[in-house]
This record gives sequence, C-alpha cells and structure tokens, in this order.
Amino acid sequence: RGKRAFIAGIADDNGYGWAIAKSLAAAGAEILVGTWVPALNIFETSLRRGKFDESRVLPDGSLMEITKVYPLDAVYDTPEDVPEDVKSNKRYAGSSKWTVKEVAESVKEDFGSIDILVHSLANGPEVSKPLLETSRYGYLAAISASSYSYVSLLQHFAPIMNPGGASISLTYIASERIIPGYGGGMSSAKAALESDTQVLAFEAGRKHGIRVNTISAGPLRSRAAKAIGFIDMMIDYSLENAPLQKELSAEEVGNAAAFLASPLASAITGAVVYVDNGLNAMGVGV
Ligand code: NAD
Repeated sequence: RGKRAFIAGIADDNGYGWAIAKSLAAAGAEILVGTWVPALNIFETSLRRGKFDESRVLPDGSLMEITKVYPLDAVYDTPEDVPEDVKSNKRYAGSSKWTVKEVAESVKEDFGSIDILVHSLANGPEVSKPLLETSRYGYLAAISASSYSYVSLLQHFAPIMNPGGASISLTYIASERIIPGYGGGMSSAKAALESDTQVLAFEAGRKHGIRVNTISAGPLRSRAAKAIGFIDMMIDYSLENAPLQKELSAEEVGNAAAFLASPLASAITGAVVYVDNGLNAMGVGV
C-alpha cells in the first residue's frame, strides 16, 4: 500500500508545503492537506478552477491529486479553546471541525491512519518588529502558531500514525544565528521548534515508533516570507555567500522532505537537516 501524508500549512502553490506535497505525491504518497481556515475558500476555489494545474504537474507528467483538504487552525486544540469572536467570525463560521483535535479525528474517521505528518506553517503577528520591541502578546502568538502548533499536531496525530512513520517540520537558521529582521519572537519560536524536535523524537520514537526531524530551509519567496519584508535581500545574500551559488528551489526542500519521510532515512530522527545550499556552514561572507 502507498503511504498517506497529512500536510499542514498549504494555502497556495508558492510555499514549501506545496513543494513537499508534490515530492511526496511523486514518490507515490496519497496527499491530505490542512489549510488555514481564513485561506480555505480561496485555496479550494483556485484548486477547483484549475489555477494551480500548471504547478500540479509531476515529473511523470501526471497531475498531483489532493485527496482531501481539511480546514485547520493550528492555534486551537479543541473547540473549547476557541474564543467567541473567532467562532462567530464570518470566515470561521462557514467551516467546522478545524481545531487540531477535531482534524485528527476527521482524518481518522475518513482514512484510519497516516504515515507522514508535515508541519509547514508559521505565524508571528509582530515579525517585522525587533525582538527588543516585541510585546508579550506578539511573542506568545509567534510561539503558539509556530512552535506549540507542532507539539499539538504530533500529539493528536501520532496515535493514528503507523509505526515506521515520519514527521517533518520547517525551521530557519535565525534560531541559532542572528538574522536581523526575523523578529517578533519568530527566532525564539524556531529555537523552540528545533529543541522540541529532539525531545519529540525521543518521546514519539519510544511511544509510537515514528521519526521526528526538521528541515532548516534556505530563503524562498513564499507568501509568508514576502510578508516579513526582507526575503529578496536574504535570497541575494545566499546567492552571494553560500557554497552553492544558485537560487534555492522549493522542490529541493520537497525532495529532502520526501527522503526524510522515506525508509531511506529509517535511522534519522531528532535531526535538523540543512537544505540551504550550505549557507549555514559559512563563518563569514565572501
Ligand atoms: P507559506 O505561506 O507557504 O506557508 C505558511 C502557511 O502557514 C500558510 O499556508 C498559512 O496559511 C499557514 N498558517 C498560518 N497560521 C496558521 C494557523 N494558525 N493554522 C494553520 N495554518 C496556518 O510560507 P512558507 O515560507 O513556505 O512557510 C512554511 C514553513 O517554512 C514555515 O514554518 C516557515 O517558517 C518555514 N521556512 C520558510 C522559509 C522561507 O524563506 N520561506 C525559510 C525557512 C523556513
């Protein structure tokens, strides 16, 4: 039987989540997607109208099929956690069962189990503010959406993951080196995500026999990255300074994720894997 993957954090065809879905689909996996509730409508409409058809093309010429799109807001674990103003918000009221626990239950009901869990989402409302000027609210919101969301996803999905399964998240070098401009507590959130990758690898490995890794990806002009505002500078910097002087394609990250999710990586867990043209290894720019 082919593997089944749930990828949280796809709302268009520009980000890492989409590229990971494609690489997994190319390797034969069935694709389930979790899409942020406020972005769901436009994503499903675009998908239906064929707006993504060109980018759905797989290496063998066929089109990637997405078996099901689930609405998801990874900031809420159960319906009891959702505040009234969000519940009654027009964009949320139109969908149902989008808290993490409910999505895991729906996937279990629909398919029984999954093999691969991908977390490709982040959000930091104050990302453009320096850490020194970040509010408590902004900092905790960044951690909630970008780090705890992963703990919660794995907590709820691990019980329906088949042994030998694998889980992958996306991180950024700003967790361990100073990247001015990646503010609002997002650097802190990525540091937490990387540390949690180790602890979760231990706990989920022992309890469920699944692997937990994170990919530290180089810069990509995704929707989220454009919102931060410095992405072109980061891409230029990498082109100039990385060992491999080429623009990083989302597909390269997708392929690394497919490898990490596959039996080829059966002894790799708790790892931060750099997919960044080697930029992380440089001490100074040249
Ligand atoms: P993206 O915009 O394609 O993906 C981010 C997704 O997160 C969006 O689809 C958004 O709708 C979703 N999202 C935000 N809040 C959510 C919530 N509460 N619940 C559910 N979904 C939510 O951008 P991307 O850059 O591909 O980001 C994917 C991952 O890659 C993120 O973890 C990001 O930090 C990481 N990353 C990106 C870069 C880069 O340069 N683009 C570099 C390293 C790491």
